Amino acid sequence: EIVNFNQFFNRIIDRFELSKSDHVTFVRMLSNKAYYVDIDTDKLTQVIDNIISNAIKYSPDGGNIRFGVVVTDSILKVMISDDGMGIPSENVDRVFDRFYRVDRARARSMGGTGLGLAIAREMIEAHGGRIWAESEEGQGTTIFFTLDILTDEVGEWD
Ligand code: ATP
Ligand code: MG
Repeated sequence: EIVNFNQFFNRIIDRFELSKSDHVTFVRMLSNKAYYVDIDTDKLTQVIDNIISNAIKYSPDGGNIRFGVVVTDSILKVMISDDGMGIPSENVDRVFDRFYRVDRARARSMGGTGLGLAIAREMIEAHGGRIWAESEEGQGTTIFFTLDILTDEVGEWD
């Protein structure tokens, strides 16, 4: 399905914004340019849902969650960052492994199975993109993923 990515992304963020608790603030750094991508919208929704759920789950009181999209050439790079506890640098790639969770005891109390990011990686790679994490312990985490922009047609009307 061909969609205007920022519009698609904003709708997902809107849905979380309606139901999220007040301990986190959403900060959108999104332009209103139209970048079209050809994606399985159900699967991409699942990917973004998990990344946002993780960001909320690991955010401290008063934390910000920032949403950004950067475009270079014909690649769209999506960023979702939080001010949470972060991930130790030696584990930053392992969070994409099935069932891997940084701290088993704490993770158990947080719920979940440890599959979310493994599924996200599978889905992003099936779309020809990449997904990775950058994190600073005690500072926060940013999850990045890329998608190919369908055409170089950029509209500024929506
Ligand atoms: P599930 O997504 O299946 O409900 P989960 O959230 O634990 O469970 P993943 O989404 O795959 O699993 O994340 C794997 C692990 O990576 C998490 O358990 C957590 O330890 C770590 N992690 C993921 N996102 C963040 C984040 N934003 N900040 C800190 N740690 C994170
Ligand atoms: Mg998760």
